[in-house]
Amino acid sequence: RFIAPEPQGAKEEQYDRAIRPLSLEEYIGQAVVREKMEIFISAARMRKEPLDHTLVFGPPGLGKTTLANIIANEMGVSIKTTSGPVLEKAGDLAAMLTNLESGDVLFIDEIHRLSPHVEEVLYPAMEDYQLDIMIGEGPAARSIKIELPPFTLVGATTRAGLLTSPLRDRFGIVERLEFYTVAELTEIVIRSAGKLEVEIDTSGAEEVARRSRGTPRIANRLLRRVRDYADVKHEGRIDQTIADQALDMLNVDKAGFDHLDRRLLVTLIEKFGGGPVGVESLAAALSEERDTLEDVVEPYLIQQGFLMRTPRGRLVTDLAYLHFDLPRPHTG
Ligand code: ADP
Repeated sequence: RFIAPEPQGAKEEQYDRAIRPLSLEEYIGQAVVREKMEIFISAARMRKEPLDHTLVFGPPGLGKTTLANIIANEMGVSIKTTSGPVLEKAGDLAAMLTNLESGDVLFIDEIHRLSPHVEEVLYPAMEDYQLDIMIGEGPAARSIKIELPPFTLVGATTRAGLLTSPLRDRFGIVERLEFYTVAELTEIVIRSAGKLEVEIDTSGAEEVARRSRGTPRIANRLLRRVRDYADVKHEGRIDQTIADQALDMLNVDKAGFDHLDRRLLVTLIEKFGGGPVGVESLAAALSEERDTLEDVVEPYLIQQGFLMRTPRGRLVTDLAYLHFDLPRPHTG
């Protein structure tokens, strides 16, 4: 799938580094979030204080990591990056925290996957810049307090609802990223093409944008694949026809749906009469993880109006029948 953040080869990483926006000004779209962050960052800088702890949530590939890096850049501090599943023991987090310099950003991706005892170390660190750790075992065990430098925690997660409420409550700033419009993605594609010295016209960029599932990561990946196609077939120039042919070859359809999107909708229609069906049954029928469906696949289908989440389960809409040219069953 194009959405998957991994595996990332060295080449892809290099490509990513070349096109990743470094300042809020270069961060395209997300106007509401950008405007608020501009104000919060300016205010923190004026007061010479670290920015409040910030939680960013939204589906993968929408720019959470990018935003965390931009926050550090704009604050003029360093960023240390880790993720929920990597921090297995309390000591792992303690090591990260004691390595911070005053004002630094600590970025924890997939913060909803922190284990409870690691999370507990985070509370006093966030609140009072203090580390409470137990050393030793049994009767000789004692707790020691370590003062930490002031820092900003930036946490990223696919859904804010996955966080425990004590953790969520400790973030002063909570921002939700939205899917990007075609116009915004077109801008992103044109910008990336410029950085990579790829020749693309507006209609070609729009075609890539339309089929990118509202997601900059996918737009950038598709651009790369379309560039390969254009290099071979069209002396490297990308226009709408070339983009269209390349994307058809890649099995990305006109609505930007990929294989799993289509499989979900078609399974819902063919096996479950269009729904409603519970997410567990749907996941089992697709042999996919429930989390993948809820965090990655469904948000876009819902935003595009192809799918609904109801109290009784998932339900396809008329648009889905139209898209696949399937007859709508009679109801009532
Ligand atoms: P997430 O952390 O939400 O999964 P990333 O921050 O890794 O997503 O973003 C994926 C890629 O998309 C980045 O490498 C970046 O180049 C691009 N990108 C994300 N947001 C934007 C944006 N607002 N403007 C331009 N490019 C963006």
